[in-house]
Amino acid sequence: QKWVYDFSEGSKDQKDLLGGKGANLAEMTNLGLPVPPGFTITTDACRYYLEHGSTPPDLEAQVSEHLAALEKAMGKTLGDPADPLLVSVRSGAAASMPGMMETVLNVGLNDESVEGLAEQAGSERFAWDSYRRLIQMFGKTVLDIDGEHFEHALDEVKREQGTESDLDLDEEHLKDVVGRFKAIVREQTGADFPMDPREQMDLAINAVFDSWNSERAIIYRRRERIPSDAGTAVNICSMVFGNLGMDSGTGVAFTRDPGSGAQGVYGDYLQNAQGEDVVAGIRNTVPLADLENIDQGAYGELMETMSRLESHYRDLCDIEFTIERNKLWMLQTRVGKRGAAAAFIIATQLVDEGLIDMDEAVRRVSGDQLAQLMFPRFVEGGDATQLTEGMNASPGAAVGKAVFSSEEAVKWADRGEKVVLVRRETNPDDLSGMIAAEGVLTSRGGKTSHAAVVARGMGKTCVCGAEELQVDTKKKQFRAPDGTVVNEGDVISIDGSTGRVWLGEVPVEAPAVVRYFEGEIAPDSDEADDLVRSVHRILTHADEVRRLDVRTNADTPEDSARARRFGAQGIGLCRTEHMFLGERRQLVETLILAESEDERNAALDQLEPLQRQDFLEIFEAMDGLPTTIRLLDPPLHEFLPDLTDLSVRVAVAEERGEQDEGTLRLLAAVQAMHEQNPMLGLRGVRLGLVVPGLFTMQVRAIAEAAAERKKAGGDPRPEIMIPLVGAVQELEAIREEAEKVLADVAEKEGVDVPATIGTMIEVPRAVLTADEIAGAADFFSFGTNDLTQMTWGFSRDDVEAAFFHAYLDKGIFGISPFESLDIPGVGALIKIAVERGRGARPGLKLGICGEHGGDPDSVHFFHEVGLDYVSCSPFRVPVARLEAGRAAL
Ligand code: PEP
Ligand code: MG
Repeated sequence: QKWVYDFSEGSKDQKDLLGGKGANLAEMTNLGLPVPPGFTITTDACRYYLEHGSTPPDLEAQVSEHLAALEKAMGKTLGDPADPLLVSVRSGAAASMPGMMETVLNVGLNDESVEGLAEQAGSERFAWDSYRRLIQMFGKTVLDIDGEHFEHALDEVKREQGTESDLDLDEEHLKDVVGRFKAIVREQTGADFPMDPREQMDLAINAVFDSWNSERAIIYRRRERIPSDAGTAVNICSMVFGNLGMDSGTGVAFTRDPGSGAQGVYGDYLQNAQGEDVVAGIRNTVPLADLENIDQGAYGELMETMSRLESHYRDLCDIEFTIERNKLWMLQTRVGKRGAAAAFIIATQLVDEGLIDMDEAVRRVSGDQLAQLMFPRFVEGGDATQLTEGMNASPGAAVGKAVFSSEEAVKWADRGEKVVLVRRETNPDDLSGMIAAEGVLTSRGGKTSHAAVVARGMGKTCVCGAEELQVDTKKKQFRAPDGTVVNEGDVISIDGSTGRVWLGEVPVEAPAVVRYFEGEIAPDSDEADDLVRSVHRILTHADEVRRLDVRTNADTPEDSARARRFGAQGIGLCRTEHMFLGERRQLVETLILAESEDERNAALDQLEPLQRQDFLEIFEAMDGLPTTIRLLDPPLHEFLPDLTDLSVRVAVAEERGEQDEGTLRLLAAVQAMHEQNPMLGLRGVRLGLVVPGLFTMQVRAIAEAAAERKKAGGDPRPEIMIPLVGAVQELEAIREEAEKVLADVAEKEGVDVPATIGTMIEVPRAVLTADEIAGAADFFSFGTNDLTQMTWGFSRDDVEAAFFHAYLDKGIFGISPFESLDIPGVGALIKIAVERGRGARPGLKLGICGEHGGDPDSVHFFHEVGLDYVSCSPFRVPVARLEAGRAAL
């Protein structure tokens, strides 16, 4: 098996095998861009290593072969004492995992080759600086030594020299640092730092493989839903040096602004430095535009290369580069992460530039990104005081209590507190804190710093580089330029779109995208900005290409009307139980407690006109669109007082000798109706069969409301839905009664009442007998909440709090099956029901109305299995429209 590929052998389409970095280095090499020569060890080799605990037997020989070729191309030998070839050993998985895995630079340096390097480069200082970096990175990464030991030692030397900057250390000081670093290695590991260059390289390769399973990598993968067995590739690249002097440097850049999508020069540059200095935000960078004054030649070449990359990849690219003595070298490129707004804007910009078509533009954005654009925004004004303005690194509005460490962020968030994580800069160890926080604020680092990159990837609000703030993580406070001190627990507000930071809580308002959906901003008006126009164009196209209809779950006229403005094509689920609460509860109680038919009918007669009015208003809001009304579902005891509360009340009254008949009757009824597992008890269709007149009252209210609308010139389209059916006999019995009522109302009112009758598919037995059930149903709607509950045997109200965190930690699933459909399990049942249902009744209308109707991945599945529509909450309607479009492409 071929485990190793030269950069000239691969291409950008081989990400799975070569990792993203390796594939793109190969692509750039083949484009003729200045990439330092090197080779890539495949992800296959990593998977072999992770499985067997050792590298494939023939890997070493293949690496030797490629190393020999590299040495020949470079005219140097790895670690040669006189003129050493040095290499970097970098991780690079198929899915981008920024900063999560390891990298070792300057491999090949030892006590002898450091002299050779000094001679060749004409700089002792540079050679010893490179050597100390190798020992530091190798020590941390390969030998597992706590990085603090090295940092302390370096700080100590700086302190002795009375300086705070690495740049003030000369070669003698750096030799001293190297000596101390080697002592640390000996102390911490009991062995000397390895002098053999090849041994250094092999150990570094294994360390990169191992870093696939570092804690932070595991957390990141779980969050980003990256498969845990994919493995990383390893890139061995000949070193070029950004730390050779002020005519050298290193930087990162974007071809467009990843926050706003605007075109221009975006990036950071650091003179006389190596890559990790920039990403770690250790020293302050200068804006990339300044490079033009520093080194016009290299700047020009960089701009040209970036525009070439953008037209080649047909997308925003981010890059890492190094300038070695005025010569530009490309170290990495990839299609860059971007904020949600930028994703929409860039997609339509690229369409206008003729690089992609509208189909591709729809593919380039996601429902999750659209959902982010619908989050509330800050309203200017209010009584919060602005403290400073940093960089707008990842858009959004976050309000929370300031905390100064990742551990605190997690602790506070677990207690249910909203927090903003405040750091000088973040590093990969801060990942769990960033996940827990509402937003992230840093005082150092640019838009390409760790905090910014990771926050944008997570869609988390981030303000970075707020340099005016003096952050003291030890004292758990920061000081603003006006002298205000913000302590742990003080509420702050940060705006990732403007970079502003306030003390106190800033009020929020609906963003422009929501106002566009509401119809308050016309897409062709002056009020519409680039973002609104892009969203409009992309959603319009998604609507054109999608096959799935999108309906909404709504049970009030207001929600129905809003959902319709948001693009809903009907109601997929109107839960009537919500109409039995409030003042009507008393009537329901009377109904449940009725001891005679007369009493029961009296209660039903009082409820009926109220229900009719509810439906009337909803039909009006949904005029001309299908409106699925579900008959009462939950157990009746939900409408009665709590058993324990009531028992206490009765006991207290007894004590006082104040017992009354009514309360005792109520208690008896509540006791009689008490169920151990109400979710599996008397609910749904079972209720309709057991409580006489309940469902027929609801059907009558629907029919009368529809008749009234029709007479008024409206176009009501009711669909009556029976919940929790498990056997066709249940449905048949209800259907027979319902049809009688419909006919009766039609006759009385003198109008034809158009209503279909269908069922929810929520219990596994309904799935398995879907062919029989289809005989009595005009439509099926999958209730995936209950179907998930009953398929897994998970109580939907209890398990998420009880033990899902353990299941998520153990990787039993990557996301709750109540949030995103369990496709292999619950999805398989849906497929069966689709096949059996349509087999028995071709053209059977099929929909889904569980929470999964607004979840992007689930929507794609529902498209694939051939459902006719998804139904979700009003605010998810645009998300579902977009994802249904993406699924169809
Ligand atoms: C379902 O079970 O998926 C459903 C939509 O019904 P409810 O959530 O009301 O039980
Ligand atoms: Mg249900």
